[in-house]
Amino acid sequence: MIFNSRSVAFLLSILICFGIGITLTLNNIGFYIIFITLLVGFTISFSICFVVFELLVFREFRRINYVFSKFGTKSDGIIDGNNNGSVKRISSELLTFANRKEEEIEKLKKLEMFRREFLADISHELKTPVFAAQGFIHTLLDGAMEDEKYRDRFLQKSAKALDQLNNLIQDLIVISQLETGEIKMHKEAFDIRVLIHEIFEILEDRAHTKGISLHLDCPENEEIIIYADYNRLGQVLKNLIVNAIIYGKENGEVRVALKAKDKELIVSITDNGPGISDEHQKRIFQRFYRVEKSRSKEMGGTGLGLSIVKHILEAHGTSITLQSKVGKGCTFTFKLSKEHSS
Ligand code: ADP
Repeated sequence: MIFNSRSVAFLLSILICFGIGITLTLNNIGFYIIFITLLVGFTISFSICFVVFELLVFREFRRINYVFSKFGTKSDGIIDGNNNGSVKRISSELLTFANRKEEEIEKLKKLEMFRREFLADISHELKTPVFAAQGFIHTLLDGAMEDEKYRDRFLQKSAKALDQLNNLIQDLIVISQLETGEIKMHKEAFDIRVLIHEIFEILEDRAHTKGISLHLDCPENEEIIIYADYNRLGQVLKNLIVNAIIYGKENGEVRVALKAKDKELIVSITDNGPGISDEHQKRIFQRFYRVEKSRSKEMGGTGLGLSIVKHILEAHGTSITLQSKVGKGCTFTFKLSKEHSS
C-alpha cells in the first residue's frame, strides 16, 4: 500500500466516521442525518489529517530526501515529491547512507595515516644526506680545509651526500608525477632486445667491478617487437638490473629472459644473490622499504626504485611479481603487450 499523507488521512477519516456512525446508530438517529454527518465528518477529518500529515510528516520526508540528494546518495525516488515512499524504505536508505559514510571515514583515516607516515619517511630520508653534507662542510670551514688530505676527503663525502639528496629528489618527482598522471606513457612498437643491449652496455662496468656477468636469454636473430614506452620501460629494466647487480652475489650472474606467449611477452630478471625472505617480499614495492638499509644507502639507493618500477608497469596496464628463496636469488617477472593497445 502507498504510504503518503492522502492515504493516511483517508484511513484515519474512515476510522473516525466509523466511530461516529456507530455512535449515531446506537442513539437511534435517522439515516438521512447520519449520512450527512458522516459526509461532513469525513470531509473535515480528511482535510485536517491531510494538512497535519502533509505539514508535519511528509514535508520532513521530502527534506530528508533532499538532504540525501545533496550528499549524492542514490535516493531513487523512495521518498519522492509525491510522498509515495515507506518508512521501511526510508530506514533502509538511511542505513545504506550510514554504511557508505562509515566506509568513507575509514578511507579518509587510512589516507591520513598514510600521509603522516609518508611525511615522517620523507623527512627522515632527506635529513640523512643534508646532515652529512652540512657536517662535512662545517668541519672544512672550521679549519679542516687547511689540511689537503681532509679537504679532498670531506669534499668528496659532501658531494656524495648531495648526489644522494639529488637522486632522492629526482625519484620523488618521478613518483609524484606518475601518481598524478602527469607523466604519460608514449607507447610505440620497438624491439626490446635493442633496449636491453643498450642497458647492458651502460651497466657493463658496474657489473664487471663485481665480477657479475649479464645475459640475455631469447631466441637468436629474431626480432621481439613489443608495444610500450621506450624510455620508461628502460627505467624499469635498469632499476631491476641495477638492483640485481647491487644486491646480487659477487662473481654471480644476472639473466634477463624473454618468453613470448600469445599476444604477450613475459620478461624476467633473475640474479643468484641472497634472495628476499617471505616477510620482506610483501613490502618490497612500498616506498622507502629496504631489506638492508645500510647496504642500500651505501650504494646510493633511495628505497624508491621498485616503487617506480611498480608505478610504470601499472601505467602500462601490467604488474610485477617476485619469486625468491633465501640464498637462491630473486626473479622479478612482468608481462608486456606485443600488440598495439590503448
Ligand atoms: P633501493 O634504492 O634501496 O635499491 P629499491 O626500491 O630498488 O630501493 O629496492 C628496495 C629494497 O629491496 C632494497 O633496499 C633491497 O633491500 C631489496 N632488493 C631489491 N632488489 C633486490 C635483489 N635483486 N636482491 C635482493 N634484495 C633486493
